Amino acid sequence: MSLCLEDITLTYPDGEGRLTALDGVGLDVPAGTLTAVVGPSGSGKSSLLAVAATLVTPDLGRVLVGGTETGSLSPAERSELRREKLGIVFQQPNLLASLTALEQVELMARLAGRGRSAAGRTRARARELLGTVGLADLAHRRPHQLSGGQRQRVGIARALMNAPAVLLVDEPTSALDHERGAAVLGLLTALTRERATATILVTHDHSHVTSADRVVEMVDGRLGELHASGA
Ligand code: ADP
Ligand code: MG
Repeated sequence: MSLCLEDITLTYPDGEGRLTALDGVGLDVPAGTLTAVVGPSGSGKSSLLAVAATLVTPDLGRVLVGGTETGSLSPAERSELRREKLGIVFQQPNLLASLTALEQVELMARLAGRGRSAAGRTRARARELLGTVGLADLAHRRPHQLSGGQRQRVGIARALMNAPAVLLVDEPTSALDHERGAAVLGLLTALTRERATATILVTHDHSHVTSADRVVEMVDGRLGELHASGA
């Protein structure tokens, strides 16, 4: 399933006027590919992800997930789309303090209404995903017993729980040192290929994006091409 952003303009109230956070942005992300969005702080990267995640409605433009125009959906249909089709990894994973890593990941299936009927299968899948992100041995730990990078990886496993078609990731490496950041990026690239997700990865760190299929740069709410892989 592809993700398509068409001519998106987003403004926020700003004193008397409006601040333009996204200025006619278009982006097409085919299934199984990862597009990295780089750019300075305040350039509109998180706003772009919020629009792609259908959490914020743009002033102008359309967001299509697998060809479905999300603007034409009811709020209930949009939240169902978010639960079923979108995996969102926020900058801060916001894990629940009282839950183990395994429980955080399982919870996503419960929220999608799939927990009770197939609790055993849900648990097995959550375990498998924690294995995928390299946390098989830490499944029983709570957030305060995990490092920043480990928490970030729980956030990634959680986003994958409902087998999303679209993966949206905001600065997953900002809290990590270079080596761990590169490992998380490598993981996201591999997951994009294996699971055929349409992935957008936001990062301010250019050095991490060598494995992306495409790199675009956000400057003052506008997108420009940086390079295509292999070009
Ligand atoms: P980035 O993620 O690249 O740092 P953001 O998308 O967070 O950029 O922000 C883009 C611009 O929009 C910034 O000028 C920021 O101050 C502004 N902005 C972001 N969110 C809001 C909001 N909820 N209300 C008003 N202004 C906002
Ligand atoms: Mg941001």
